[in-house]
Amino acid sequence: MKFGGTSVGNIDRIKNVAQIIKKSIKDGNKIIAVVSAMSGATNDLLKKANEISNNFSDEEHDLLLSTGEQVTSALLSGALIDLKIKSKTLMSWQIPIITQGGHKNSRIISVNTEKIKKFLDQKYVVVIPGFQGINENMNISTIGRGGSDATAVALAKCLNAQHCEIYTDVDGVFTTNPEMNIRAKKIDKISYDEMLEMASLGAKVMQSSSVQSAMLNEIEVYVKSSFKDVKGTKILNQNKISYEKVITGIAYTLDDSKITLQSVQDRPGVASSIFKPLYEKNIIVDMIVQNISADNLKTDVTFTVKRSDFNKTIDIMNNLKSNLNFEKLISNNKVSKLSVIGAGMITFPGVAYKMFDALSKKNINILAITTSEIKISVLIDEINIQDAVSTLHHVFDLD
Ligand code: ASP
Ligand code: MG
Repeated sequence: MKFGGTSVGNIDRIKNVAQIIKKSIKDGNKIIAVVSAMSGATNDLLKKANEISNNFSDEEHDLLLSTGEQVTSALLSGALIDLKIKSKTLMSWQIPIITQGGHKNSRIISVNTEKIKKFLDQKYVVVIPGFQGINENMNISTIGRGGSDATAVALAKCLNAQHCEIYTDVDGVFTTNPEMNIRAKKIDKISYDEMLEMASLGAKVMQSSSVQSAMLNEIEVYVKSSFKDVKGTKILNQNKISYEKVITGIAYTLDDSKITLQSVQDRPGVASSIFKPLYEKNIIVDMIVQNISADNLKTDVTFTVKRSDFNKTIDIMNNLKSNLNFEKLISNNKVSKLSVIGAGMITFPGVAYKMFDALSKKNINILAITTSEIKISVLIDEINIQDAVSTLHHVFDLD
């Protein structure tokens, strides 16, 4: 059971989490509880580090940020003990949870389960701080923001858990962001692939790399509210879901920008010369669309980058101009990527048509289109996003 920052956001909430665990013990479960820092705590620590130095040591950064989870672990364990439940916090160096890679962004590579099992066998709840481990130098490491999800999934895998429960402040995964569309509904079951698309497109229920790791290891994940005792969302294998609807969810971004290079030469090596300098500057490129060249001489290339990289990208492209000989650079830094996601579309025809038709009836222009097996994404002007989301939500029967 993993409890996110808001679920342990104050003392009453921590006591409430202890009650949730107590109930699960009554149902006959052995439990490992993974906790996040209290909401806002990690950001507060980061702020302090920045006040000390804008070049704060990476090693000390990890040591500092790891304390947030240590606080909630001890408080939760204390709350359980107060309820006469045997409980023990194990810090990552006591277990140990071994990580690899640089500070701030390490990944868990192994968990020694011996001590954990020993306590579980003696009917203890084992409380473990999320988001951290120790590296080959025996230093404390952290595994990236939102990393407690990854800790929970890694533990579920190494201990062969029946499933992994992610407790949060919403009732589950929704068909779209309820703040954007009041008709959004909770999804009962969603496949790993669909959840991965939703998560990487901004459905902030779970860190997307931890969804990927659950998928690779086939760990069933249940997303639930820690505030309400209602059924949440199950994330599982596609073959365990019978699809009644073609589309499972609608996701969108609000931080994209689009760049088009018009009339670049159509010869081998051009695409690589465009994207190499972006790679060298660590800029992540998302949608890439190259037109078919009508005359075999010239073509257009369109791609999107995050808005925060927009200015840097424009500069890089302008520097390439003499080399690539394109005619014109067209850009728009207020675009949104809007995606309909659903494994049902693998066997169902006409999804693209239905989507484009609905958008056209609302007079919303499509700037670019990309697809995968279970997703169709279009780029539109951000100003249209609310209208587009509610239209598609309705058309695909999700209201
Ligand atoms: N406390 C960490 C963060 O805020 C890890 C987590 O909450 O999952 O990123
Ligand atoms: Mg979190």
